[in-house]
Amino acid sequence: MLPVFDLVTGIVFFCFLLAAGFLGLWFYYDRRDHAHSAAGRGRATFHCIRCDHLYSARGEVATVPCPKCAHVNSRLRF
Ligand SMILES: [Zn+2]
Repeated sequence: MLPVFDLVTGIVFFCFLLAAGFLGLWFYYDRRDHAHSAAGRGRATFHCIRCDHLYSARGEVATVPCPKCAHVNSRLRF
């Protein structure tokens, strides 16, 4: 009787470990994706209408002068 009880306990323990492992992976990738999207949120993309140059700038800025021709462009919105 005791070995059967140990087998059931082992299966329950194994399933618990498996669930904890998947929960840990889920938390790890959720945190990683959140950190990745938060890092990319601070960048704004700009397209120069005079010289056709694509560039980006950090922060929430509305207009940034072009690094090639200094023409002031507004940010691209998608
Ligand atoms: Zn330009």
